[in-house]
Amino acid sequence: MQIYTSLKRKELIEKILSVEYDLAVIGGGITGAGIALDAASRGLKTVLIEKNDFASGTSSKSTKLIHGGLRYLKQFEIGLVMGVGRERRIVHRLAPHLVLAEKMLLPFFRGGTFGKFSTSLGLWVYDFLAGVKKEDRRKMLSKKKTLELEPLLPHQTLLGSGLYAEYRTDDARLTIEVMKTAIDHGADCINYLEADEFIYTDNKISGLKIHDVLTGEPYEILSKITVSATGPWVDDLRERNHSKQGKTLHLTKGVHIVVDRDKLPVKHSIYFDVPDGRMIFAIPRENTTYIGTTDTDYFDHKDHVTTNLKDAEYLVKAVNQAFPTVQLTIDDIRSSWAGLRPLINQPGKKTSEISRKDELFFSDTELISIAGGKLTGYRIMSRKVTDRVCKVLKSEYNIASGRCRTKFLKLSGNQFRNSREVRAYVDKVSDQLKGYGMGAAEAGYLVHNYGIQAEEILSNMKSQAGNDFRYNLLMAELRFCIDHEMAVSVADFLVRRTGRLFFNISSVKQYAEPVLNAMARILGWDHARIQEERNRLESEVFDATHFD
Ligand code: FAD
Repeated sequence: MQIYTSLKRKELIEKILSVEYDLAVIGGGITGAGIALDAASRGLKTVLIEKNDFASGTSSKSTKLIHGGLRYLKQFEIGLVMGVGRERRIVHRLAPHLVLAEKMLLPFFRGGTFGKFSTSLGLWVYDFLAGVKKEDRRKMLSKKKTLELEPLLPHQTLLGSGLYAEYRTDDARLTIEVMKTAIDHGADCINYLEADEFIYTDNKISGLKIHDVLTGEPYEILSKITVSATGPWVDDLRERNHSKQGKTLHLTKGVHIVVDRDKLPVKHSIYFDVPDGRMIFAIPRENTTYIGTTDTDYFDHKDHVTTNLKDAEYLVKAVNQAFPTVQLTIDDIRSSWAGLRPLINQPGKKTSEISRKDELFFSDTELISIAGGKLTGYRIMSRKVTDRVCKVLKSEYNIASGRCRTKFLKLSGNQFRNSREVRAYVDKVSDQLKGYGMGAAEAGYLVHNYGIQAEEILSNMKSQAGNDFRYNLLMAELRFCIDHEMAVSVADFLVRRTGRLFFNISSVKQYAEPVLNAMARILGWDHARIQEERNRLESEVFDATHFD
């Protein structure tokens, strides 16, 4: 029986210890989740372990776009743009409720990096490489039309804009849904288990020494093949495997800041250039607009990456240059996040010029590592790794496996054929919520995060006593995330499952204690654990809101 609930964590660990797996995946970001799904759906006995929460690494710290990477065109990365550009539509089809088609605006200015001709040509090439359907292809807009859409852009220097197709998502939720789909296909996936050392038999890796981060308990798991999908930590594991030779990682930090929507009330996602030649996004989401990203070399602690004052000031200045009437200040920032890009070192290149391509590393002891790449390309990267795993299993163990099917495997929560059906379902949920003093905003949130799984949350909400329906809805969502998404800490729920720390931080302050008490009751926490959880959440809130 497959286990999704944190209430059965002990049973899941016992199960994991009793099986010899074909494949052990280290790392529960989007890449690891994608590999677990690909391998399990080909019939391989697969386990995935994550040392923190699922998606707690880079996979909850991105710009949250499923995009072809328009700026890589400038660097002539034609293959990368074509690969991920075409992949966007597939990822959208796998979860149309969670990966939403959205038009983006690319304005150009007098004295800016691009003019009308280069913007038009660049977007045409971008659409062409990605195979965008005729009706969705870029449209060039006059200055007048652009200002009608986005009156905050500078009237004096604006020359016009290009409106083009992209997709946006929630990176952590996408990772979690891929993980749940992997579990549906037979993978055993668990958070808060850390890989410490490799176990070797005849000079090949045959298992892992691990420990439970929540209890400190050490264990060993057995597997024929091991993949490290540990993103920024890939070199640490290669070091432990004594195989860190040749190419290495180059980590760069990327920061996003979040402001109230009325401080930067843009109606579209806008991709604008800044005087240093970089490009920045301003993306509206719920009652906020988020802005990012920076791109600076990073040599510090990988487990604690934060936004500093310089990062925050850079982004505030960028907004004020592109939207001169806005006059944002540091005090307007409500929340922020900082993540690490696990890029592959390219000596002599500037940080922002280093390729975003993925790279596979193979060690003599059969550790397969993967790093680099994009959230958007997770399925292609996973296929590459799983193909290699299957080849080794066939040649060394005569284990046959199927072909990659992930292009056709809908992610959990998806019972929709297209965006129209998603919109109709949002309307239906909105109607249901009206009787409880809520409506379209809550329905959009529920459906875009959970798809059809919103049914269970709604029915749980309706069965609760008490007239504070918003609170009841939150508690129903919490119960769903404990029962189906392995949320084991308050931060798992308020940061990765719901995104509240970033997009609704006042609700984190409002509901932290009720969520803490409910989790303590459901999961049987003692006083020490409650205090530990409280401290952890406070430090997450501190990191998101202080810039030293
Ligand atoms: P991670 O998400 O970091 O996962 C690795 C996991 O391994 C971590 O959760 C970690 O805890 C775990 N781990 C490490 N060591 C161990 C161990 N010993 N035992 C167990 N677990 C371990 N891509 C896009 O397509 N669109 C975007 O808009 C976009 N924006 C970005 C913006 C920024 C600022 C950044 C930094 C990246 C962006 N990307 C974007 C790239 C994308 O986010 C990454 O390529 C992707 O999230 C990497 O996922 P991953 O699974 O490889 O790594």
